[in-house]
Amino acid sequence: MAIKEFLFLSALGIVGWRIVEVRNNPAVLQAQDDLRAELSVSGHIVSGGFSQLTSVSAEQAYQMIQAGQIFDLKNSNISRYFDWGEVFANRTSNEIRTITLQQLKNAVRHAQVLDKVRDAYGKPIHIASWWRDKESNRRAGGAYNSDHVKGLAIDIDHFSKSEKKKILDSASTISEVTGLGYPASSNKGHIESFTNNGRRKNSWFY
Ligand SMILES: [Zn+2]
Repeated sequence: MAIKEFLFLSALGIVGWRIVEVRNNPAVLQAQDDLRAELSVSGHIVSGGFSQLTSVSAEQAYQMIQAGQIFDLKNSNISRYFDWGEVFANRTSNEIRTITLQQLKNAVRHAQVLDKVRDAYGKPIHIASWWRDKESNRRAGGAYNSDHVKGLAIDIDHFSKSEKKKILDSASTISEVTGLGYPASSNKGHIESFTNNGRRKNSWFY
């Protein structure tokens, strides 16, 4: 974490503590909402205190999200290589609050599989889309209750079709991976795990 970011988080920690102290004051509650809105627009959803979500259980993380307690997603690991910012990319704090406990646990399981894919590929993997709330999924043209809504699928987006293919081929060597999508016309690809009752689907080319 850069020193500027650290100071920023520390300052927010103090603000967060003061808000708790005077939480019945409507003006303070409004200020808290404004702060959340501002930070979610910048892509960093932050509150004082938590910078490593891995130190809390899935249940605690779920309760924090439901309570509107927000944390530094980018600096909170979901697994060895991936962070919560990647799970919730481009989602507003209101959308994030619609995640269910089961979906959140699924995202953790999928992240552990993605760690294996990352090791097999040997280089960082850029995730374009992971969990989607139902409304965003509908807008993205995804199937109702798609594996993205369940937290069990990612879309990758890489700089070249050959790298994309290497990642998907690496994923095909991991037993928990149950579905792979190879769009021919773009650098994108789709990886899902634990779907289809654990049985491998045919890869689909489109
Ligand atoms: Zn997908």
